[in-house]
Amino acid sequence: MPTYQYRCTACKHEFEELQSMTDEPLQSCPKCGGRVKRLISGGAGVIFKGSGFYATDYRGPKYKKDAALDSSSGSGPGKSDPGSSKTGSSEVKSPAGKG
Ligand SMILES: [Zn+2]
Repeated sequence: MPTYQYRCTACKHEFEELQSMTDEPLQSCPKCGGRVKRLISGGAGVIFKGSGFYATDYRGPKYKKDAALDSSSGSGPGKSDPGSSKTGSSEVKSPAGKG
């Protein structure tokens, strides 16, 4: 059973109340009878914040342009990998080129 934290909007009194998730939230302050607001604690699991959401994954037209430029350059003729000293494998894996 989660513990809910409340804060009185009138006297700023903060207290915790052990309640079931289906229980109705408290409405009044046990101290002054004023209106209380339920705070979100770490164990609640669900956090609703005011408004809006973060859209960090959004990729606009600028990103597409940069990606196109990047794929068209960088390949040179006769480029050998100096770090490849491993031999014995007959199967040569070619780098996956897309485009
Ligand atoms: Zn109060």
